[in-house]
Amino acid sequence: MSAFYREKVLSVQHWTDTLFSFRATRDTGFRFQNGQFAMIGLEVDGRPLLRAYSMASANHEEELEFFSIKVQDGPLTSRLQKIKEGDTILVGRKATGTLITDNLIPGKRLMLLSTGTGLAPFASLIKDPEVYEQFESIVLVHGCRQVSELAYGEKLVANLREDELFGELLADKLIYYPTVTREPFRNRGRITDLINSEQIFNDIGQSPLNIETDRIMMCGSPAMLEELKAMFESRDFVEGSGNKPGHFVIEKAFVER
Ligand SMILES: Cc1cc2nc3c(=O)[nH]c(=O)nc-3n(C[C@H](O)[C@H](O)[C@H](O)COP(=O)(O)OP(=O)(O)OC[C@H]3O[C@@H](n4cnc5c(N)ncnc54)[C@H](O)[C@@H]3O)c2cc1C
Repeated sequence: MSAFYREKVLSVQHWTDTLFSFRATRDTGFRFQNGQFAMIGLEVDGRPLLRAYSMASANHEEELEFFSIKVQDGPLTSRLQKIKEGDTILVGRKATGTLITDNLIPGKRLMLLSTGTGLAPFASLIKDPEVYEQFESIVLVHGCRQVSELAYGEKLVANLREDELFGELLADKLIYYPTVTREPFRNRGRITDLINSEQIFNDIGQSPLNIETDRIMMCGSPAMLEELKAMFESRDFVEGSGNKPGHFVIEKAFVER
């Protein structure tokens, strides 16, 4: 048995010069928990070229969705950005990752903190009905440099708000907080600063950070994660893992090479 499923690309959408998303068929044997990632890629010169990718689709969906960067000279994404409907992608059989609710101590508010393509695992999690059962409120924060980079997330949330099943859940529980650092926008600033200054909580009309009730998942650049981790640890929040649930969990959105 091959280590990969060979899936067909169903659609591709380009959001900016550096971001695109695509949908593909999903083998019925491919199981994952919402928030996890798998190795995906292309066959190049007869060999698999693979990178870690978070599933942006939820595990109850029939198709797979991914939200991707385009790195100009990136071995995979310089090619992947050219895929078209009908092309074949490889999807590793094994999904893994720390951004799952089992790794968190029960709480009341779930904060999903992301930058760039770090939004992808949370795109999956906000489509999980169980997450809405486990938490009273879910705050999805997406930080980007430019307003155009928010488009995928804005469309995702707008579509879910119109969805028959999710519309009501989202209306009651999901707060979406996009923020931009390099252009004028209704919310501005880096996530760390917005939490430290409590600006974000003022903006959404909720109470500031509280270790008794807040649980956090974060996915972004290695530098952003380091800063956030230090900030939460200075407030006694403990990192969770598969061995022991905690107040927060972390996944890198990419690795610096
Ligand atoms: C756990 C995990 C989950 C991931 N999930 C996703 C995902 O859902 N979507 C996605 O696009 N990428 C994701 N990545 C990154 C992905 O694995 C690849 O790095 C990316 O597809 C680029 O591949 P490449 O071969 O073109 O370039 P690489 O050689 O892999 O990367 C070249 C350089 O580009 C930069 N870079 C790579 N990926 C990103 C990114 N996503 N955002 C900003 N800068 C980046 C880094 O500086 C990196 O050193 C994930 C990485 C990890 C570790």
